[in-house]
Amino acid sequence: MAAWIREAKGEALGEALIQIRETGIDPLEAVFAEGVRHFDKSGEYKADGALSLTAWLRWKCKLSGGAAAERVEVARQLAKLPQTQVAFANGELGYQHAVVMARAAEHVGAAAVRKEETSLLQAAQTMDPGQFTTVAKNFEHRVDAAGALAEANHAYQRRYFHIGEPEDGLVRLDGVLDAEGGAILRSALQPFMKPVKDDTRSYGQRSADALVELGRQGSSGSKRDGAGPRPQLVIRASLDTLAGVKGAPAGELEGGGTVPAATVQRIACDTAIAQITGRGELEHELDHASRTIPAPTRRALEARDQHCVFPGCDRPLSWCDGHHLIWWIKGGPTELPNLALLCRRHHRMVHEEGWVLERRDGRFKASPPPRRPMPSSRSA
Ligand SMILES: [Zn+2]
Ligand SMILES: [Zn+2]
Repeated sequence: MAAWIREAKGEALGEALIQIRETGIDPLEAVFAEGVRHFDKSGEYKADGALSLTAWLRWKCKLSGGAAAERVEVARQLAKLPQTQVAFANGELGYQHAVVMARAAEHVGAAAVRKEETSLLQAAQTMDPGQFTTVAKNFEHRVDAAGALAEANHAYQRRYFHIGEPEDGLVRLDGVLDAEGGAILRSALQPFMKPVKDDTRSYGQRSADALVELGRQGSSGSKRDGAGPRPQLVIRASLDTLAGVKGAPAGELEGGGTVPAATVQRIACDTAIAQITGRGELEHELDHASRTIPAPTRRALEARDQHCVFPGCDRPLSWCDGHHLIWWIKGGPTELPNLALLCRRHHRMVHEEGWVLERRDGRFKASPPPRRPMPSSRSA
């Protein structure tokens, strides 16, 4: 089979992959389940000093705790589901479908599953494991609504969400939600998931951006009073950092973590989204400069630009910051001709990734970061 896979191309390769599962892996899992069942009965695993069959499988068969417990469950339940056992053994039923059948038997009893075994197996053959789980869950609910409720309540109890401390510039997220919570979050993220033109982000990166955008828009409230969103970030930074002076310290986020000067500058670019604090000199400078885009100016900016002005981008107002074409600390005025709406992704590309955004004859032009000595002829 290994030789066949190495030689196979195109359609034949796809066929080979299907065959590996149908005539190789799945039937072998069925044989494995049978062996586990005998081993379970004989209790032979205790001879090695293991406290349970699951523990023995983890230890000797190199399975994770979850994978080992799943195999034990499949072995025990399938003994009571003869049709399922046959279909599994001859490759008609995949391993993951067999797991769904075993779980259903565990939840509502094998006798109840046997009554509908034929129709469940028919469904299994035309569905992927996720769709089939829905069918099985519906069946469980029909047979035992109270049990289905208890299971859902148990799942709900296990919910948790954890946001880690920043480490190497990254914050790790970890958690599980019940089905309802997951569905709510998924549909809330949906509007922010849309790829933009020439989007090079992976699906995971788009999901991460969507989560942050959800937080950003959520905490700014739905009311838009013309002054833009409320500050959601508090950053402590020195005047040198803000001005991008060489040797300046990083910006410090309230709540932990540091960000580089370019990020402080981006965040301070539209001060409505962040509050920058420092000592004495900086505060004076911030007060002196028009630190916030005045409400009438922001309204005029929104009316003129309507969406992100980066060429090819149409992300709506609520995704956008007010960007100063000439940075205000360098004397750029907070006035309409010097402002532009940029979505968070493009605002970041300008400040942190070195893209240059210019406005010429009322049109915005973006040039990639200059790699070689600034070719003035190119941007002309
Ligand atoms: Zn900016
Ligand atoms: Zn954009």
